[in-house]
Amino acid sequence: MTSGTVCTPLYVEWLTLRDKLTAPLIRTGRATGTIRDDPVLVAGVGGALTDRIAPGDLVVATEIRRDDRTVPSHAADLVAGELRRAGLRVHTGPLVTTDHVVDSADERRALAASGAIAVDTESALIAGDEGRCIVVRAIVDNVERPLARAGMPLRGIKALASLRRAAPVLDAWAAATGDRELLLAAPRSFCAGVERAIEIVERALERFGSPVYVRRQIVHNLHVVRDLEQRGAVFVEEVDEIPEGSVVVLAAHGVAPAVRTQAAERRLRVVDATCPLVSKVHHEVRRYAVRDNTVLLIGHPDHEEVVGTTGEAPGNVIVVPGPAEAETVQVPDPGRVAYAMQTTLAVEEAAETAAVLRRRFPALAGPRKDDICYATSNRQAAVREIARRSDLVIVIGSQNSSNSQRLAEVAEVEGTRAVLVEDAAEVRLDWLAGVARIGISAGASAPPALVDDLVRSLSGLGSVTVTESGAVTEDVRFSLPKEVTQQ
Ligand code: SF4
Repeated sequence: MTSGTVCTPLYVEWLTLRDKLTAPLIRTGRATGTIRDDPVLVAGVGGALTDRIAPGDLVVATEIRRDDRTVPSHAADLVAGELRRAGLRVHTGPLVTTDHVVDSADERRALAASGAIAVDTESALIAGDEGRCIVVRAIVDNVERPLARAGMPLRGIKALASLRRAAPVLDAWAAATGDRELLLAAPRSFCAGVERAIEIVERALERFGSPVYVRRQIVHNLHVVRDLEQRGAVFVEEVDEIPEGSVVVLAAHGVAPAVRTQAAERRLRVVDATCPLVSKVHHEVRRYAVRDNTVLLIGHPDHEEVVGTTGEAPGNVIVVPGPAEAETVQVPDPGRVAYAMQTTLAVEEAAETAAVLRRRFPALAGPRKDDICYATSNRQAAVREIARRSDLVIVIGSQNSSNSQRLAEVAEVEGTRAVLVEDAAEVRLDWLAGVARIGISAGASAPPALVDDLVRSLSGLGSVTVTESGAVTEDVRFSLPKEVTQQ
């Protein structure tokens, strides 16, 4: 495994970190010209090109520029995320290396016009082309407070203090560096129901213009929600927050009929993005309830999908979270009992719960095939397979995404440590220390680009070999509702 080296160009930077690091530390000076392709972290002080970045703040370069040469810094998000968790103020963006110290406001503005946020005089002389150079610069000066202005020594001390506070993260980065094998679970990421729900909001925005209101998160993913917000969607908790007569999209998890009634009372124009596989479960519950069956709904009581499904027949549905509750649940008439399931459960645990119910209630009616959807089953099978061959499994998805949480749990059942993260910036460097083989998956609501970002970030810590693993090809497509398709 390649191990990372911390480089400090100036003597004072080297002195600042010398007794704080266990990672290899070298003083490069400026004119080394030693371009390095092994993981290297340039630590020191620098200047900001905008007043948004104050003395004492840290800049982590996302790319390093000098004249006509620009090199990426692939692991910048990982290091920036770790520094933020350590309580430091961190900015990310391009850094430019110049051949002289920049101090005039005009020159700073000219460099800022290129999109760069900070300047130094060494990093590009050290950074290789492979994207494995991290630059952490503690800011001493900016446009408002240039080097020539009074107070510079104090600002220098403040910057060096920030650099010392960053030292544990620099050590964690060095320990996390190394060559790795990445196993990508297939399938992973978006399912047909999520793609459909996002497309419905996009089309509603095109057709009706902003604002288009969306009740609850359209799918359980922060990145998806933020992206749609930027494009004009307005997310609300309940329909009574929406001005009368507006357009509302109902989220993929489905809603209770009472929500549709409220929407009608407010004369809202409703576009329904409920996944057809969730609608199917609603239909089953209604069918059983009409026959006066008690429906034992296997699922998580607080999950929006379960709340919506229960709302189809509140007097007939009892939520059964797992096998233990299945052992004790009581029904009014054991001869009239049925079960249904949340679509995103852990396949094996749900089957165990259903088996307990079947044993206790021989007359139990149920779906011909369990309600867990194809996307949930396929992703769980794929993550199980890579977990067996990995030292660590990283699942990308939001904490409130049931299917993403289940992927991490299924991987752990295989005896492999598994973590659920929103994106690469949430990956902790200490999880990666000594880990040579990483399995990667993503929940059905997590955008595929986040997996690409994670792979790129890990490639900034050492060379990576990427293998995709899984035999199932998904070709499920759902049609869109007429409200967003008809002319
Ligand atoms: Fe539909 Fe399954 Fe995707 Fe949920 S996870 S939106 S039920 S396909």
